[in-house]
Amino acid sequence: MPRPILATIHAAALRHNLERVRRDALESRVWAVVKANAYGHGIERVFDSFRAADGFALLDLAEAERVRALGWRGPILLLEGVFDARDLELCSRLDLWHTVHCDEQIDMLAAHKTQTPQRIFLKLNSGMNRLGFAPARYRSAWTRLNALPQVDEITLMTHFSDADGTRGIAHQLEVFERTTLDLPGERSIANSAATLRHACEARGDWVRPGIVLYGSAPDFPVGSAAHWHLQPGMTLATRLISVQTLKAGDTVGYGSSFTAEGPLRIGVAAVGYADGYPRHCTTGTPVLVNGVRTRLVGRVSMDMITVDLTPVPEAGFGSEVTLWGNASGGAVLPIDEVAQAAGTVGYELMCALAPRVPVVVA
Ligand SMILES: *Cc1c(COP(=O)(O)O)cnc(C)c1O
Repeated sequence: MPRPILATIHAAALRHNLERVRRDALESRVWAVVKANAYGHGIERVFDSFRAADGFALLDLAEAERVRALGWRGPILLLEGVFDARDLELCSRLDLWHTVHCDEQIDMLAAHKTQTPQRIFLKLNSGMNRLGFAPARYRSAWTRLNALPQVDEITLMTHFSDADGTRGIAHQLEVFERTTLDLPGERSIANSAATLRHACEARGDWVRPGIVLYGSAPDFPVGSAAHWHLQPGMTLATRLISVQTLKAGDTVGYGSSFTAEGPLRIGVAAVGYADGYPRHCTTGTPVLVNGVRTRLVGRVSMDMITVDLTPVPEAGFGSEVTLWGNASGGAVLPIDEVAQAAGTVGYELMCALAPRVPVVVA
């Protein structure tokens, strides 16, 4: 018998989440962002659910090859552009659209030999200060690119630092609009949070949702997946492999970080940090046992966690344990709540699903 742990990718939920985004961005085309192996879900596993997108956006060239290998003939966008001049050959061969965010990438393009001009997303650094041309340099980059025979249409692009938070997008949108005022071309500015929370100001021709497609709220804990009508794209579940009965004063696990105040039944579940369950989760992290909400107690080990069985007295060896996603009875544990307990975000938990965990699409 393999260990009882299993990740389930919910194809219908992924499809629902994409439709949900479309409803908010009716005038925009939608990139399904599938970087980091589709946020840990697996590009091949999500592909069918996201076929209705207008294109796939990612940043690893090997992942772009995988999308083409699945038979996708539509647009594919490299969100960070090329890393090396040789990457441009693959862009030509696979017809990849690519971001240009720095002079070195323009130099590579200028030296690239190709019969077919390439579609470019020219990135403005409107204040996030990660990738992109500074506003004062953006127009000269556009002019230089536009003059190259290697370049086809240029889409104007930027990325927001605070679409999910209180600072919002107005300051960056103002920089973007001022800088691009009379430049021709389509616009692409919105990630998940901007698409759902700032739809009116930040539509643009192409939206770039990632996290919401996988069912995580773009602005947790202000918003929740339920609030945004998103469904979990992934469930991580396992079973109890042992039960212990403690008395007052007994401790649990490494470092004895949890002490029972009175008699207590503890379930031992087959999941640990080597499966991608965050070690930073401490006592109190929500867990479902037989669909009933209870809490983690003590430290997360490599292969096991321990949970309080007080709210589920009937639970025992073999009982279902849901770490995030959907329990069999219909209860849902949002990945965002588990991420918050670990001091992180849903993105990191999805992406960290370990290779040793078996995955099925259902
Ligand atoms: C990852 C990424 C996105 C998607 O971000 P989410 O917050 O997951 O919606 C959009 N645009 C760019 C440039 C990205 O790198």
